[in-house]
Amino acid sequence: MTTYDEIVEGVLAGAEATPEDALTILRCPDEDVFDAVAAIARLRRAHFGMTVKVNYLVNLKSGLCPEDCGYCSQALGSTSEILKYTWLKEDEALDQARAGVRGGASRLCMVASGRGPTDRDIERVAGMVGAIKEENPDVEVCACLGLLRDGQADRLREAGVDAYNHNINTAESHHESIVTTHTYEDRVRTVAMAQGAGLSACSGLIAGLGESDEQLVEALVALRDMGSDSVPVNFLIPFDGTPKQETWELTPLRCLRILAAARLISPAAELRMAAGREMHLRSLQGMALQVANSLFLGDYLTAEGQSAEDDLTLIADHGFTVLGADDPASVGAAGTAPAIRRRGAGTSVPANA
Ligand code: SF4
Repeated sequence: MTTYDEIVEGVLAGAEATPEDALTILRCPDEDVFDAVAAIARLRRAHFGMTVKVNYLVNLKSGLCPEDCGYCSQALGSTSEILKYTWLKEDEALDQARAGVRGGASRLCMVASGRGPTDRDIERVAGMVGAIKEENPDVEVCACLGLLRDGQADRLREAGVDAYNHNINTAESHHESIVTTHTYEDRVRTVAMAQGAGLSACSGLIAGLGESDEQLVEALVALRDMGSDSVPVNFLIPFDGTPKQETWELTPLRCLRILAAARLISPAAELRMAAGREMHLRSLQGMALQVANSLFLGDYLTAEGQSAEDDLTLIADHGFTVLGADDPASVGAAGTAPAIRRRGAGTSVPANA
């Protein structure tokens, strides 16, 4: 039995993985990575079998953000060439939502750039969500609108929103080096407000921001401790025009180790390989599904991902099935995966979700 098997046996028996266990995975030699993934894949299968949850991003508002998150193409001061627009009209948002559902998405992520929503913005999103739920009552809706104020999470819940996304992005000990216009504590408070209103918490991170291994583990443990049900792991896309434009720290094996460490720390959480997976995992995306159980279909916020058809082929080729598909065999079959391209994506540069 390998060290990796021993660690996983403990977690399968109900123990929490320790930060040291996660560091063992993050620092395992290249020749051991697939052994580590094989061990940790048992956790994935124990909680999610061979299913993959497909999520689809609806980018409601793009760019024009007053915050200074150093990784973000939509931030204040960013000169990235992205399409910028204010709120989509409801029928445009609904068209995008329908395209995602047709492509096999069981969760729609309704995202708007900015520090946080006004009450009017909340009402706008509430109207869209009501219309989506009327057409597709079984589709989960996750809202991602920034920092929340009192009462806003309750209103979203009342409108039918199932989950709220607000990433911590990085470790508390590293946070000030990536953004100065809001604090780590602000972010944690919003996650807690969402949970307090009965929304499922979706909170994750961006890897490759200059954090140490210890800080990566610090962030993963923080996400477990705050009870994040869904953990998106983004891999930094170093945009031209942002302070991180020269930051290239990730390799495919490093990304695989990060996802494996995330699964080890939060074995029962939905683990999503998010923005940057195509660029950084490259040919290991299929291997990554052995530990991650969720992905975004097609494009990211201001980013072009691989085609929806390629995503569905990736899932099927590795023996996985799309969660919630009535006929999994038909998802991704020729002609069923729409050529999804949203307004704002498909421009010259990709973006971190
Ligand atoms: S991550 Fe969000 S809050 Fe930060 S700059 Fe980008 S859109 Fe604004």
